[in-house]
Order: sequence, then structure tokens, then C-alpha cells
Amino acid sequence: MTVPASVPTPAKAAPKISFVSLGCPKALVDSERILTHLRAEGYELARRHDGADVVIVNTCGFLDSAKAESLSAIGEAMAENGRVIVTGCMGAQPEEIREKYPNLLAVTGPQAYESVVAAVHEAVPPAHDPFLDLVPPQGVKLTPRHYAYLKISEGCNNRCTFCIIPSLRGDLVSRPAGDVLREAEKLVRAGVKELLVVSQDTSAYGVDIRYATSPWRDREVRAKFYDLSAELGELGAWVRMHYVYPYPHVDDVIPLMAEGKILPYLDMPLQHASPSVLKRMRRPGNQEKQLERIRRWRETCPDLAIRSTFIVGFPGETEAEFEELLTWIREAKLERVGCFEYEPVGGAVANELGDPVPPEIKAERKRRFMEAQQGVSIRLQKARVGKRLPVIIDEANGGIAKGRSKYDAPEIDGNVHVTSRRPLRVGDIVTVKIERADAYDLYGSAV
Ligand code: SF4
Repeated sequence: MTVPASVPTPAKAAPKISFVSLGCPKALVDSERILTHLRAEGYELARRHDGADVVIVNTCGFLDSAKAESLSAIGEAMAENGRVIVTGCMGAQPEEIREKYPNLLAVTGPQAYESVVAAVHEAVPPAHDPFLDLVPPQGVKLTPRHYAYLKISEGCNNRCTFCIIPSLRGDLVSRPAGDVLREAEKLVRAGVKELLVVSQDTSAYGVDIRYATSPWRDREVRAKFYDLSAELGELGAWVRMHYVYPYPHVDDVIPLMAEGKILPYLDMPLQHASPSVLKRMRRPGNQEKQLERIRRWRETCPDLAIRSTFIVGFPGETEAEFEELLTWIREAKLERVGCFEYEPVGGAVANELGDPVPPEIKAERKRRFMEAQQGVSIRLQKARVGKRLPVIIDEANGGIAKGRSKYDAPEIDGNVHVTSRRPLRVGDIVTVKIERADAYDLYGSAV
């Protein structure tokens, strides 16, 4: 008997994937790519491990503490489901994971989208229905809909001695500018109000492809930090720059911030201020006369907010070198600062430097560093009281909301707590009169 063409065949239930994404914003972008691919093939996302056909854990292997978190997430997935695929930075060293969890379905390294997808196909083949499996053209976002990470390159050409990312992710590979801009445009069309530009080294964008041009709209755009920033600035969204190292050509981008094309914000992980420590760290960028450059940037763009992270207790760090850092941080007056105690990462060159700083001295230096910065932060925050600032709303419950000013990135910086007579919605950009400040957050009412 033949089945008449008009009788629909029963649809196969869509296989379900449970996904854990650990690590930095860059890993989050990888997770989004994997999920977009799988959603396009008809897979669905499960909220819990126990109802899923397979679990994917995207790991972070940067610090030992991140590795421990990754291993525990894998353990949880094994206990609750048992069918687990591991990917991400830690997947570059599969022996350690396999030793602990020999029954994993697959272990793949970072950026190995194809291998992850192939492993999923093997574990649970797709039930593809091209008419039902619609995926929004901008992909699947793991971040809230009003902001999205935009990854412009993979890997890194630097060789900082404390870091193993280049050995995990390889040398710099930049995406053509046209591709990045098309993705950004799709995101904005889908309702994204803030684009967070990420990579391992944003200011090095395009070096590997010799700043090659690629078509975008009616013109050719160079894969260069300035050119990309200028074009992104035309899309009508907030554009925030992360992981920018202080190379001289960063100077060119500051006027775009002053003109309001991109946000007056630089996430610039400096890690230290003592030239001798920076040399041992083999940090990129011209570290000399840093204060002078920051002063010039602020002359061009008085509104500029700089966020940075620093490491204390790097091997061989003397009290005098640490004091240099303290003096620098007091003078530089950075808006947002994070401080980490140095932690040796398996496979990093810095492990061979010897002369480790004892844990109690590391902890004490971190405390002194944070104390010094807190004085700076409080003064800078108080200076915002009385100002009217545009604030993007991240969470809202009627007239009570939490958002961020242009000076604050999601997840890492402070918040603005807002009260409003009219109900606010996530993604709204409202003007808020700042009434109060503490070292991290601002408080005010929508005008
Ligand atoms: S710039 Fe340095 S710390 Fe950053 S990813 Fe490259 S090697 Fe690692």
C-alpha cells in the first residue's frame, strides 16, 4: 500500500541537548555557535541534564580553579545523565579528563565546532525537518537578547608567560570585517542593543590577514581595529570594546568614543605596572609611558572609562615592584579594576621562573591593592552623583530595575539601580538621574 502524499508522516521527537557553558565571554561565543548549528539541525535545548539525550560541557582550562570547576561540571553531568561530550579549552588536554571520566562519549578541543557536532550526531542523530527547524537568522544567543558578544578573531600571537591560551587556541585568526559586520547587523535587527566585541587581543585584529579588505554594503572595509570600530559605530547599537591592549594605534579609536560612535569604554587587561614584572610576564603593547597615554586619551575623551585586571604575586614580585603597582594604580585612576592572586597554570612558562611569592604575601598584596583602588573608585563614583546618564536596563520588575551605564560592561562591572514612575522593560535605554553612589554601584531615578 502506498501512502498518499498528502498524509503527513508522524514527526520524530526532536533530540534534546543539555548544555553547560563555563569560562570567559569568548567561550560563551563558542557555545552559541555550537548551539546555533545544532538548533538549525532540529535539536532542542533541555533545561535539565536528566531529560536530555546528551549533555555538552564547554570547559575552561585557564586556571586550576577553572579546571576544577570544569571537572565538577563534567562529574555532575555524568551523574545526572551519563551521556556526556566535553569541549572547550580543557578539551585540549584530554588525558586529564579521560583519567577521571573514562566513559565520556567524546572530548574535543577549543573551536572544534565540527568535532562537537559530529560527536552529537553519533550519540543522537538529528531528526531533521527543514520546515520546522527554523533557527532565527542571528543564531541562538545565550546572553539576554538585548546584548550579545561579537567575536572578531580566535587565538593570539602573544606569548605571555602566565598564559596557555595560545597553545590551546593557536595563533591569531581574524574574521573578515564584512563577516563580522553582517553578524553584528543581524544581531541589531533582531533587537540587540549592545554589542560586546571580544577576542583574545582585540587591538591586534587583522594583523594575520594583513588587514585585508572585504565587501560590506557598497564598500570595502579593512580588517583593522579602527575601521571595524568605525563601521560598528554606524549600526545604531552600543558598541563596547573588550581585551584591547595598549598598542599605539588604539589612540586612533579614542576620537570615535569622544564622538559617541562607540562607547567610551576600554577593557584593557594590563596585569601589572612594574616594567620588570611586565618583562617577566612578556606582555604585549608598549608599556612605557602608559600614564601619559591614558592622560592624552582622557584629554580627547574626558568621559572615557577604563577597566583593567592585575595580577599580584607573580613569581619574583618584590615588595618594591608591588609598590610600583600601587603608586601607578593611585595615579592612573581607572574606573574599574579586578585583581587576582597569581595562580600557576599547568604548562605555562612562568612556572619555570622560580621564586614563587608565598600565599600569605599574595593575599596581603591583593588586600592592599583592593584597598588602594577602593579609594579611587569611591571618588570616581561620587563624581557621577547629580549627573544624568543613559542606562541600559538588564532586569526589570515594574518601576524597579537594574541596569548599566556606558561605563559598565555586563557581568564584570557595576550596576545602576533605577526607580521609575513608568514600568521599564529589559533592553530599554533610559536617562537616569544619579542620586547616590557606593564603590561599585550607582542609584537613581528615571527622568
Ligand atoms: S595576550 Fe597574553 S594573556 Fe592574552 S591570550 Fe594572548 S598570551 Fe594569553
